[in-house]
Amino acid sequence: MPPEFQDRESHIQAPYAVFSGATLGRLRPEPTHSYRGPFQRDRDRIIHCSAFRRLSEKMQVFTNDLGHYHRTRLTHTLEVTSVARTCGRALRLNEDLIEALALLHDIGHPPFGHTGEETLNGLLEKEGGFNHNRQALRIVEKLEPRYPEFFGLNLSRETLFGQEYRAVQSERRRAGTAASAAKTEPQTERYEHYPRAVLSPFLEAQVVDAADSISYDSHDADDALELGFLELDELLTISLWRRSAQRVRERWSGLTDKEFRRAVIHDLINDQVNDLLTATRERISRHDVESAEAVLGLPPLLGPSQAMAEEKSELERFLFERVYRHPKLTEQREKIRGRIEEVFGLLLPQVERLSTQYQNVLAHEGANRALADWIADQTDRFVREV
Ligand code: MG
Repeated sequence: MPPEFQDRESHIQAPYAVFSGATLGRLRPEPTHSYRGPFQRDRDRIIHCSAFRRLSEKMQVFTNDLGHYHRTRLTHTLEVTSVARTCGRALRLNEDLIEALALLHDIGHPPFGHTGEETLNGLLEKEGGFNHNRQALRIVEKLEPRYPEFFGLNLSRETLFGQEYRAVQSERRRAGTAASAAKTEPQTERYEHYPRAVLSPFLEAQVVDAADSISYDSHDADDALELGFLELDELLTISLWRRSAQRVRERWSGLTDKEFRRAVIHDLINDQVNDLLTATRERISRHDVESAEAVLGLPPLLGPSQAMAEEKSELERFLFERVYRHPKLTEQREKIRGRIEEVFGLLLPQVERLSTQYQNVLAHEGANRALADWIADQTDRFVREV
């Protein structure tokens, strides 16, 4: 890596950011690049992989037969990246690492979002289940065919560790109980030199989690309104929405419903980002954090204030009841579940015909896992039409 690259980071990043010059490198060592830093290369590898491109034909919450306005998994990913980089720049973090982690965060989503995930999880019960965050690691470590010498993208340890932590957190949430949660610790030994007892990931990974939450809380409401799953008035019962709506009314009058809705969504995101930055700066200065390593030993520092966290929970409960459990979506979910199970049953006897990377999985982890890896890589449309 050129000296001017390191010089640039030392000028713009805070001491608690991850520095490219201090990277722990890749599991397969590679020479450094003449003008790109390690996390820039990670970002480029993710953007150019086929699993990333397929996000354009994977649903976020709404399928493409419902309309043409709403987010796909790809546009959601780009929105998360945008919010995360904005927050990361304000906090003087490593933007290249943030961008790599944000672009990576949903790459393991199978077709049909959480329904696809739950269905594969059920089908892989004996194999330890299916988790989209864990799947992202499988893609970048052993599935993506990109280089002649190996499968996977050979990303930097910091990028893998950020996603590993995300996977562990979601496995803990799914396990629910403290007893089973204790079994899922981040596999820090794979990343060498990290402390054994890690309480949180780097701030660059924490910011991606926060940006994901800010994005889907706001955009799921936006999409649900556009598609007619919700009415504007219903959201006025939610304090976060009510406050943004109030500010929009004070600023403009005579807006159409659509203009009003867009302005409220902008304000919602702005409100959450402002709160996030204020609360995070306060925690960073209270703990007197002086390095990225120190961050790992502290509870998560980056996140909303207590008041904002409660307001976000209120909005999320509302979206859960009124949107995600909407009869139209519930009915669709049943069909999707049946379709994925049908495709799984049809293709299982032919699993030996899948390409080399799946043959490796077949040999070491069995037919169910190999087929789930393959199905997870397909688009919504492909699963419908296969
Ligand atoms: Mg996401």
